[in-house]
Amino acid sequence: MRVCRICGREARGFLYTHRLRADRHPTYAFCSRLCQDAGAAIAKRLNGMIDKTETETKAIKEARRPFAEVIDELGLMPAFEERSAAEIDRIIEACVDGFREAMGRLALNDDLPW
Ligand SMILES: [Zn+2]
Repeated sequence: MRVCRICGREARGFLYTHRLRADRHPTYAFCSRLCQDAGAAIAKRLNGMIDKTETETKAIKEARRPFAEVIDELGLMPAFEERSAAEIDRIIEACVDGFREAMGRLALNDDLPW
């Protein structure tokens, strides 16, 4: 059984391929239009990726710069100066994963019948 990439229920033939370029991006399956929309939104933010792949790892690395700009603006740089790049990546990943998990949960709630 192929499961929905967002909520883990059985996928029902809703597919998403970033920019319809199956040669460059993976195709993901979803259970519903709502999860498909959530997956598409995530994929658009993450350059076509929903799973953590080489490209996503690269994207997380590239997010270090805007992350550093924000902590600098907030005067938090001294707290992060001693931290390794891997630790910074863990923080960025936690935000990405949290966003992704919430998107799946919210999409699932929207899908509940009234
Ligand atoms: Zn789903």
